[in-house]
Amino acid sequence: MSDGRALAREFLEQQRMLGGEPVILSDTASTPGSRPGSARPSATPTPLTPGVSPGKVSALPPAGLSYDPPGGDLFSNDPVPQAASLEVIARLVTSCTKCRLCDGRRHAVPGEGPGDARLVVVGEGPGRVEDDTGRPFVGPAGELLTKILAAIELPRERVFICNVVKCRPPENRLPQYDEIAACLPYLHRQVELLKPKVILAMGGTAAQTLLDTKQSLGSLRNRVHRFRGIPVIVTYHPAALLRNPNWKRPTWDDVRIARRLLD
Ligand code: SF4
Repeated sequence: MSDGRALAREFLEQQRMLGGEPVILSDTASTPGSRPGSARPSATPTPLTPGVSPGKVSALPPAGLSYDPPGGDLFSNDPVPQAASLEVIARLVTSCTKCRLCDGRRHAVPGEGPGDARLVVVGEGPGRVEDDTGRPFVGPAGELLTKILAAIELPRERVFICNVVKCRPPENRLPQYDEIAACLPYLHRQVELLKPKVILAMGGTAAQTLLDTKQSLGSLRNRVHRFRGIPVIVTYHPAALLRNPNWKRPTWDDVRIARRLLD
């Protein structure tokens, strides 16, 4: 199989995983004299929706919530609002004991990605594999996230990926209100330092925390919200997509909106 054809097949497989209609590629490359209609597909992927190219949406959804929490007090003794870099934040997180989640963790998971990332992905909290490795979004949900990002032509290495809480809740339960409140200054400072162009909130906990609301994920989707003026797109968490493949299609719609805002 040629490189272009392999690329096209990989791309279409990603679209299928995200809920697109299946596209059948012929295994037989066309040759001069081959039958009409058996033309070899080009290396450029075919849009799954007529008139809509991959990574593009025709119109942005309406504006949603806007949340602008106060910045940290520069005169306090709290080192988090004054952390000068993402590395300093990571060091503070690694030694943090501000909430009970420190008791059961193997590794704190501050987040990872380049300091000039234009997209920040925020999830809920570390799971077992993340706790084992100290890295965010690894394991099956992480692999799906990597594919989602690749589908909008954004290599994972160019995205900053983190969670609302930096230590694993026992048995992967939802983080509790006081745990989120204790951990939130780290996320706020990360976003302050990164100044991303777009934030992708994956899952209800990330969306509700970033936007300071109790509205459901379903009602928050398909809006361009703002956190300190930065556009926030809300979508499903990859772990939820693994449980419910029907959500892959709406997730694909959401990430294309995020992609459009980056362009
Ligand atoms: S979850 Fe956050 S606040 Fe709680 S111990 Fe870990 S880093 Fe500290």
